[in-house]
Amino acid sequence: MAHRVRRYTALCPMHCGLDAGSETMRGKESRKLRRSAKVVDALVLSAITDSSKPLTVYAVAQSSSNLGQPLVPVQVYRSVARLLKRGEIERIASSSAFVRAQIKHSIHLLCADCGSCETVAAKQAHQVVTKLCLEKDFDARERHLEVSGHCGRCNVDS
Ligand SMILES: [Zn+2]
Repeated sequence: MAHRVRRYTALCPMHCGLDAGSETMRGKESRKLRRSAKVVDALVLSAITDSSKPLTVYAVAQSSSNLGQPLVPVQVYRSVARLLKRGEIERIASSSAFVRAQIKHSIHLLCADCGSCETVAAKQAHQVVTKLCLEKDFDARERHLEVSGHCGRCNVDS
């Protein structure tokens, strides 16, 4: 009788719908990649900060791997959860990607052509959203203000 192999599966905590339990996290491979949370957070934050575009968990893992510091997606998922909690990064809800937190009360301008993300201050827009939520007795937990379109550089190029 064959043994049944239990496969670890867990949905991405960032709601991208992907399997966070990569097979590469098992056995020897996972032991080779063990690093402290502090080191992993520094690598993840560096990858996100150095990118001109929002990075998904898998793009962060790839970027870090390209720099000779391989991370598996599970490590990145856990790290982004910590970095989000500490307010060091922000989630781009429309693409399940992450950018460095720069400005409190901002709007992310996302270019559909080049994938760039510009973060601009928008305190008044946030005040309007807060007021609307209060008027509707809506308990807002997360607030992502994003505008998609074409950046000035891509507008000139087209
Ligand atoms: Zn663009």
